[in-house]
Amino acid sequence: MIKLSDFSSIFIANWKLNGNIEFINEYYQKLLPNPNNCTIVCSPSIFLNRLKNNSNNIFSGAQDVSFYNEGAFTGELSAKMLSNENISFCLVGHSERRQHFKENNETINKKSINLIENNIIPIICVGETLQEKEKQMTKEILKKQINECSPINSNFENTIIAYEPIWAIGSGLTPTLEEIEEVHTFIKKIDTKYNKFKVLYGGSVKASNSGEINSLKNVDGCLVGGASLKVDEFNKIIS
Ligand code: PEP
Repeated sequence: MIKLSDFSSIFIANWKLNGNIEFINEYYQKLLPNPNNCTIVCSPSIFLNRLKNNSNNIFSGAQDVSFYNEGAFTGELSAKMLSNENISFCLVGHSERRQHFKENNETINKKSINLIENNIIPIICVGETLQEKEKQMTKEILKKQINECSPINSNFENTIIAYEPIWAIGSGLTPTLEEIEEVHTFIKKIDTKYNKFKVLYGGSVKASNSGEINSLKNVDGCLVGGASLKVDEFNKIIS
């Protein structure tokens, strides 16, 4: 398993359902990773093995994994299959999967167990809706999501948490820096177990705000959606 403590920050590009072979070839030619950081590109799964070289701490990550290990589940990819292809990271519980594919904390927990058993680091995504934020329920929601999604055997070396307020994803809106720091500090204090976890921020991160967000004490990197599709912009974010 990759040693997370070797990196000062972790940056993840989440391409979602975007990209094609020309796009990928150009992207990997132009990507300029910062060797002190860990850079993970979550491409659509059919392209996971297009990244040939991880010598600069660039890794391919999957966007999802099956709940099941094997069997009659057409279209699914298991954690073992990802591990056979040397994939070291996988997003789980992204809000788009919770919303469109009815994932819940229980399925996310099981997927994370399957990943850890196969030496793949789950990046567990959590976050509140705008209504929940307005009702001041953010901390309560996050505590429940994190406690229910994190497998019993998860620890700071085999699991990453990504805080992604749902209302900030793709909207151009972000919490204030104070709010981000307060939430990340809260997450690390939910239980002593989470103290040393890497906690990433995601939601409308771009080159113009990534520096100040990533410099917050309890922010250990960023998960980037839309802005990661432009390699020049993503290069600025990870520099
Ligand atoms: C995401 O999809 O995880 C995300 C953070 O998207 P965006 O950066 O576009 O808000």
